[in-house]
Amino acid sequence: MKKKECIFCLKKENEFVLENKLAAAFWDAHPVSKGHLLIITKEHKDNFFELDDAEVLAINSLLRAGKKMLLKKYQPAGFNIGINVGKTAGQTVMHCHIHLIPRYLGDVPDPRGGIRKMLPAAHK
Ligand code: 5GP
Ligand code: ZN
Repeated sequence: MKKKECIFCLKKENEFVLENKLAAAFWDAHPVSKGHLLIITKEHKDNFFELDDAEVLAINSLLRAGKKMLLKKYQPAGFNIGINVGKTAGQTVMHCHIHLIPRYLGDVPDPRGGIRKMLPAAHK
């Protein structure tokens, strides 16, 4: 079911750059890199762990299609795939979405660690 007050439930088909029966992809409004895509479920689900298997497959299919599209369009050298679950983990829009973030050579001085660097190395 769609939620009237949810900004991702309000997304219209003309904003979708990719879609299938259960999922859709659109450009992030504040991209962290050129081509930053968001993949959502068409049904409102608060977070990734609420998805059923068919939705996970639908999202996976758009991740693959998104990767193909981004390689053709922008030729990134790599990708980060990220999911924030819960406010404490940084989730700001409470409708399940997966970040597909293209990465480019030299976009940060030292890319080693990727998403492992989101917390300072305090656990020794
Ligand atoms: P979160 O922090 O919840 O994982 O990510 C939410 C993402 O949604 C952010 O990257 C933010 O830039 C993006 N975003 C927030 N509002 C909108 C919107 O209205 N349209 C689009 N296309 N992206 C949005
Ligand atoms: Zn929603």
